[in-house]
Amino acid sequence: MLSVEAKERFLQRIKFKGQIRRKKLGHCWDWTGRLSESGYGCFDAGGKGHRAHRISYKLFVGDTHGLQVLHECDNPRCVRPKHLWLGTPADNAHDRDAKGRQVSLAGDLHPSRTNPEILCRGNDHWTRKHPSKTCRGTQHGRAKLNDTSVYLARALNNLGCTYQKLGKAFAVDRSAIASACMRDTWKHVDEPPKNLNIKMWYKKHKNQLTPATRELVESLIKVYVYS
Ligand SMILES: [Zn+2]
Repeated sequence: MLSVEAKERFLQRIKFKGQIRRKKLGHCWDWTGRLSESGYGCFDAGGKGHRAHRISYKLFVGDTHGLQVLHECDNPRCVRPKHLWLGTPADNAHDRDAKGRQVSLAGDLHPSRTNPEILCRGNDHWTRKHPSKTCRGTQHGRAKLNDTSVYLARALNNLGCTYQKLGKAFAVDRSAIASACMRDTWKHVDEPPKNLNIKMWYKKHKNQLTPATRELVESLIKVYVYS
């Protein structure tokens, strides 16, 4: 959908630890590029203007099936895939209403009631019906991360190491590390405890990293653990 150049440009405009609108959702990914009058992120690619949150949905989640991409966090500049969901224009109105911003347009005439088949959620969602088709962690053909690198990346991120540096060390792009650290992905990997002895932990697990990764990771450990 996006060229490699456009994808890189897109990812560079994301501030991964953005504002927190709702505690349980965690940080928003705030768009740092141009905003529309109504506050949505704008992104130009292929000679056209796009809404940044729609691009993000397509990039990280998949097809929008012609539906609107709505914000769970109510922050129009947010492009975090976990905060986005697909809905009809009426869902949008209903959502606004539920959040107390506009008059009601809901009830039994709501399209999600009259045409419930257009929305797949919960147990009807295809990822539940076909769990084998969703790839998680190292089952994913392109994954360059593994449980060990994700655990270590989270521990180093807790100490202040940036996604940029972690991405470089683990040879993945910044967004892949950010998603892993924020548990949008790699949810099955435990969270490192605050008082983790990284030095000891690393000694035990470093064999699960490639030599090239080890070298870069060790330089990060020197900076963030010993300083
Ligand atoms: Zn958000």
